[in-house]
Amino acid sequence: MRTMRVPRPQTHQELGMSDVAVPNVSSSLPSAPRVLDLPREEWTAVVARFTGPDVRRALWQVVNTLGPLAATFWAMYQLLDPAPWATALLVPLAAGLLVRTFIIMHDCAHSSFLPWPKLNDALGFVTGVLTVTPFTQWRRDHALHHASSGDLDRRGHGDITTLTVREYLALSPKAQRQYRFVRHPLTLMLLGPLHLMLNQRIRGKSKATRNKQVVSVWATNAAIALGVTAAIWAWGAKAVLLVYFPAMYVAAAAGIWLFYVQHQFEDAYWEEHGQWDYATAAITGSSHLRLHPILGWFTGNIGLHHVHHIGPRIPNYRLQQAHESHPVFDEAPVMTIAQGMRTLRLALFDEDAKRLIRFADLPR
Ligand SMILES: [Zn+2]
Repeated sequence: MRTMRVPRPQTHQELGMSDVAVPNVSSSLPSAPRVLDLPREEWTAVVARFTGPDVRRALWQVVNTLGPLAATFWAMYQLLDPAPWATALLVPLAAGLLVRTFIIMHDCAHSSFLPWPKLNDALGFVTGVLTVTPFTQWRRDHALHHASSGDLDRRGHGDITTLTVREYLALSPKAQRQYRFVRHPLTLMLLGPLHLMLNQRIRGKSKATRNKQVVSVWATNAAIALGVTAAIWAWGAKAVLLVYFPAMYVAAAAGIWLFYVQHQFEDAYWEEHGQWDYATAAITGSSHLRLHPILGWFTGNIGLHHVHHIGPRIPNYRLQQAHESHPVFDEAPVMTIAQGMRTLRLALFDEDAKRLIRFADLPR
């Protein structure tokens, strides 16, 4: 069994999220960088075994995701007048299928879903439109996220803004209030979905967003506008508002929560750029979210996020096999849904204790 050279701080399980110690921000605790004791050749060999698409499984996944999604929307529409409560009851199912649709888009973004690049990207675009995500632009942001996750000096790629304790304390009271608002669990879960849906509609050119990405944003907007117009023409504005929108809103909330718990937990790996290590960040900076197999199906096993980060081109339908193939994957911090809910209160990285803390843990 592989072990870490430097013992980790207490894990969630050992500590219990409600028992977060009040940190002493001025103390200097041992801060040697964590490094995974696993030779590069060994983990690259494990990743290589599971990398690459399986056409049969991929196509079946498209059918068993988009088929039920269309059927669920159809049922919700048919029930809208006679039994609106039944339409409402179907929202979680439609949302779950939209999450699974997003997972297909995610694999397409890693070029791991289909072996034919053009078809892979076309499917990425379509599943992106269905989940109001500009595929090419998201793919670029997401690649940066994978290349910088857990790197304190390269924050801001596909993650929620996270300040260190010292950065936060250096802010003006107004800026501190703004940060507290953004990091409040209710802001994240209730306003986050709207922000996600609207914020992706416009993207100015920057170093990370070239012409190709801007075109992708507007092509997605045009396809969404076309789709919404056609849906209003065929089924009416009420159906779009009461069938698609609530499902997309819940799916976006679930997506935000998943993205959040995958990297925001108490002893998540964060290091300065010079100390940052890809494999260690992947295994100890990503959580292993344990989900019931039914939820695992809807989320394409994205809870095995440590496996996804060490091998981003392992398709979702191979993550479980990969996870079981090597003991190093047991090093990833395990999280339950309840623990994941409690991590929403974590908001600052304590540079000295090297862990995420709550606002309540700040010294008064
Ligand atoms: Zn990814």
